Amino acid sequence: MACDLCDTLGGSLLWQDGQLRVVYVDEPGFAGYCRVVWQQHVAEMTDLDDTARARCMHVVFIVEAVLRERLKPDKINLASLGNLTPHVHWHIIPRYRDDSHFPQAIWGARQRAIRMNSTANLPKMLAADLASRLYP
Ligand SMILES: [Zn+2]
Repeated sequence: MACDLCDTLGGSLLWQDGQLRVVYVDEPGFAGYCRVVWQQHVAEMTDLDDTARARCMHVVFIVEAVLRERLKPDKINLASLGNLTPHVHWHIIPRYRDDSHFPQAIWGARQRAIRMNSTANLPKMLAADLASRLYP
């Protein structure tokens, strides 16, 4: 059966190991948007054992910390939905009071014009930040 997150990375690869990958999501107006994706088919966080679940959240929080240091957002949004894919994954989204959807979720109603920002070097910087804190 076809699976988008098996067939594609779901974004630009920033880091991965055998269990997890971190990808950069190129979403206009939401610079720094990353996803942490469980590599295998696991539907719910409670399908992971304690060690695996802790590892998953460790990576999510490292990504959050790196984004906060790099981008100084007003808020971080963490979301795990996964209604359309059998891969547990977390969205880590830096938010700003003047972004297009604040204070709504980025999937909610747009509140104002999309604020474009220059992010050409951001994925490369984030990949280096993650490599220095996660291994392999
Ligand atoms: Zn898959």
